[in-house]
Amino acid sequence: MKKIKVGISACLLGQAVRFNGSHKNSPFCSEVLSKWFDFTPVCPELEIGMGVPREPIRLVNENNQIRVKNVTDQSKDYTEELYALAEKRAPELDDLCGYIFMQKSPSCGVFRVKVYNQNGMPETNPAMGAFAYKLKEHHPLMPMEEAGRLNDIRLRENFIIRVFANHDWRENVLSQPTAKKIVEFHTRYKFLLQAHSEADYRKLGQLVAQAGVKPIDDISTEYFRLFTECLSYIAKINNHVNVLMHMLGFLKSKLPSEAKSSILKSIDRYKDQKINLIVPVTMLKHYVELHNIEYLLNQKYLSPYPYELGLRNDL
Ligand code: SF4
Repeated sequence: MKKIKVGISACLLGQAVRFNGSHKNSPFCSEVLSKWFDFTPVCPELEIGMGVPREPIRLVNENNQIRVKNVTDQSKDYTEELYALAEKRAPELDDLCGYIFMQKSPSCGVFRVKVYNQNGMPETNPAMGAFAYKLKEHHPLMPMEEAGRLNDIRLRENFIIRVFANHDWRENVLSQPTAKKIVEFHTRYKFLLQAHSEADYRKLGQLVAQAGVKPIDDISTEYFRLFTECLSYIAKINNHVNVLMHMLGFLKSKLPSEAKSSILKSIDRYKDQKINLIVPVTMLKHYVELHNIEYLLNQKYLSPYPYELGLRNDL
């Protein structure tokens, strides 16, 4: 399989580019995800010429504007250079299907980067790192996550699902959208979307129904915006249970009663959190393949990313 292009803070791949000459190698990124992702490493602070080692910087609230300042000399302000770099790199990074940033960084952090006041005291409200903030303005639908948050299995799975789905959209719809391609894409994501948000799934269905009527570029743009929003919700246990039961409904007439009751038992045990999601999914998938139920075989819900990633073993 062709590797998926994903951006990453260079220090997470073990590059010694941090202010003190160290790195923040993430084995999950550099050893596991690198089997499927073709990483594009970027160190914004290095790219604006700050060098290694360099003086530390941080976010400062200056008259309600978040600036990136030298910790010891506030006359040194790097905000505009980091913004300009993001503006310059944004078109080159247009083909990325996701981005993994280093947490807490005044350049790369996406969530809850600490902000200080001009007297050096920490403030209550966090902000985004300057490079990440500007890049997000240009690519609002690009899945973005922080390496630290990927330690949370639910956030990790959600991010990986969104990257693979983004790649699928780019490969199969984006370059030349047609009503047929959008309908096929929507059909194979049906159960996965339901697991993330039933409400958004319904809105997407209504949108797809207009695919032959309204201009296809408008439908395509709106579809992918809403699709991205839908997948960004973490799938809840009850939603998974509903989807699993719905899928079982397609198999019922084909299965002997013992098989049906053992799948039902595994769904119940998953609901009670006695076993992980992988168990009922694997059982269902086995019977779907055995009976060659084409509609379900194509469902991304059963295989949203390579099995080897094993993410549902912990959900
Ligand atoms: S967090 Fe970003 S700016 Fe800091 S060292 Fe890593 S890649 Fe460079």
